Amino acid sequence: MRIKDKVSSLKGIGPKKEEALLDAGIETLEDVIYFFPRNYEDRRTVSTIKGAELFKDVLIEAKIISKKYSGNPYKKNTPLTLLIEDESGRGEVVFFNGRFLNKLFQVNQDYAFYGRVSENFARRQMIHPQFSRLGSKDDIRGILPVYPVIPGFSQNELRKMEKGLMPLYEGIEEWLPAEVIEENRLCDPAYALKNLHFPSDGRKVLEGKFRMVFEELFTLEAGLISIRQADKRSDTAVSFDCSYGDEFAASLPFELTSGQKEAWESIKADLQGSKRMNRLLQGDVGSGKTVLAEMAMLSAAKQRIQSVIMAPTELLAKQHLESFNRDLMPLGIKTDLLISSITASEKRRIIEDLAEGNINILIATHAVLEEKVVFKNLGLVITDEQHRFGVSQRRKLSAKAEDANVLVMRATPIPRTLAVILYGDLDVSQVRTMPTGRKPVKTTMVRPEERDRMYDFLRQEIKKGRQAYVVCPLISESESIEARSADQVYEELLGTFGNCNVALVHGAMKTDEKNGVMESFVAGDVDILVSTVVIEVGINVPNATVMVIENAERFGLAQLHQLRGRVGRGSEESYCFLVTDSNGDIAVERSKIMCSTNSGFEIAEEDLRLRGPGEVFGTRQHGLPQLEISDLVKHADVLEKAAQAAKKVVEKDPNLEKEENQKLKERVKKLYGDSISLDL
Ligand code: ADP
Ligand code: MG
Repeated sequence: MRIKDKVSSLKGIGPKKEEALLDAGIETLEDVIYFFPRNYEDRRTVSTIKGAELFKDVLIEAKIISKKYSGNPYKKNTPLTLLIEDESGRGEVVFFNGRFLNKLFQVNQDYAFYGRVSENFARRQMIHPQFSRLGSKDDIRGILPVYPVIPGFSQNELRKMEKGLMPLYEGIEEWLPAEVIEENRLCDPAYALKNLHFPSDGRKVLEGKFRMVFEELFTLEAGLISIRQADKRSDTAVSFDCSYGDEFAASLPFELTSGQKEAWESIKADLQGSKRMNRLLQGDVGSGKTVLAEMAMLSAAKQRIQSVIMAPTELLAKQHLESFNRDLMPLGIKTDLLISSITASEKRRIIEDLAEGNINILIATHAVLEEKVVFKNLGLVITDEQHRFGVSQRRKLSAKAEDANVLVMRATPIPRTLAVILYGDLDVSQVRTMPTGRKPVKTTMVRPEERDRMYDFLRQEIKKGRQAYVVCPLISESESIEARSADQVYEELLGTFGNCNVALVHGAMKTDEKNGVMESFVAGDVDILVSTVVIEVGINVPNATVMVIENAERFGLAQLHQLRGRVGRGSEESYCFLVTDSNGDIAVERSKIMCSTNSGFEIAEEDLRLRGPGEVFGTRQHGLPQLEISDLVKHADVLEKAAQAAKKVVEKDPNLEKEENQKLKERVKKLYGDSISLDL
């Protein structure tokens, strides 16, 4: 048995179980070892039969006084009833599948039982508890690890699997630098693993957890820092005058909001100064971030400095192109579009023109990341909807020019301290204001029985020439999830709204097909667009005034807010309907919050309160790799220490070439997987 062996080499792991493990990201024995408990069950305190709290899992130690089992061979499952006794009195334990269990229990022996106690008339009862004979090898008492659920595996199977790998711990050597271990008082990995998987004492579990969290965050940071380091970005950058931006703002049909003005002043100061701009611009959906990007890019273009804005989808890129053309064409500034779906000859032309400096403003998707795309004098790089891009994608873009200024834009706010650790020395601007005249979206919670009324309302809006979105949590019906699917709702609406144009778009469709549907919605040819969350990001159709969200309880607050942000973009009153039949606390609370505020910042705060930081600021939000044991917010203090330690190591050995850093390098590669294209 070796640590790099595949899980299929384990006894009892057939193709089906192997697949379940693979789905959970577990491929090798090492992955099993690094699959950590998410929790622990403390089974050290013994309750008495009479004193045990009802309906809560408790541990009881008692003697079996008698057994009752009729053993009727004609019945498949005859119940087995054990009469048990401890110093507090008597109770009974019931198993419905008595046939197999009968033999396992002996009268007059002591057993441990773990489960819920209920009361059947005056009699205390445990139904189907876990059990072990006192003094036997597999004791159910103690502290037990509880693992994240893997379909097809019971907790006991997972525990057994972990136990079987214990012999491999000996081969797991310390790999962190001695200095780091000493400074942070870390225990060695084998000790940590042993205490995490086979806990004997709460303090030791914490010690082990600290070590594992530290090494994971250390690896994460080492990766991030070497990415930044490899960029070798200079501190200085191209600087240029931004008064054109001011002129342009003055020519707009609207006045900038105070938040936009403030953000612009910071951006302008950055761009006019010689220090390289590295700024995060946070602002709610519809707060008008694009116009700020235009002001900056226009200023650069006027001085023949190139700039690029990268968007996560073709549709968004096209939308940007439209606003840029509308706003900048009259000023004699041309904008080009580089996306995968343009013709090969157009692509060739753009690549040539970029290299020769004939293009000043480029709007692009990740197509711009290809190596053959080279700029002549790139001075400003903007990433829109930044959370949709991975670390290495962002890096590839800014690597196009060492001394280009960097602006990243995103809608969902993240705490400043976290932003700094994740993105380096980043300045943060926030646009907290919304354009005036923008009416908040009227949000209502709708019960399924009110659906017809909602449809009547929808019909009226369509009659007025407006458009609507209907978002569903699923693409097609599922056996395991009870929720309305886009397929199903689409069919329904085709019937209900016979005279209207109803269209369907979802993530499983081909990109071309998807784009086609979206484009006809943008053009106003589609009245009702049924979709999954594919429309979540940045699309702007001011004529759409209704957003219906089916099974709203299945969406998080941030997502509901993003979805709602698709409407309320024009001058008309807009509406959002949260359809749900759930009475769950969280669902109701979320609906209440959604109905009471339109501010993304407020919603983010509430979200944090409801779900906790770990969920809200999950790694996926940042385009970072999935973490096994750490929580970026809960372990913020460890993150800071790990970041400092990693910085020291990477500064001395930027490409992790030294012998002593080979283990670290291996771990960085493993953690980032394909998402990292370091020269590591
Ligand atoms: P986001 O911040 O979500 O990217 P956009 O930049 O797409 O928002 O802006 C949404 C809409 O608001 C655009 O149509 C834009 O022209 C308009 N807009 C931006 N700033 C203002 C303003 N100060 N007053 C009125 N409308 C504005
Ligand atoms: Mg935007």
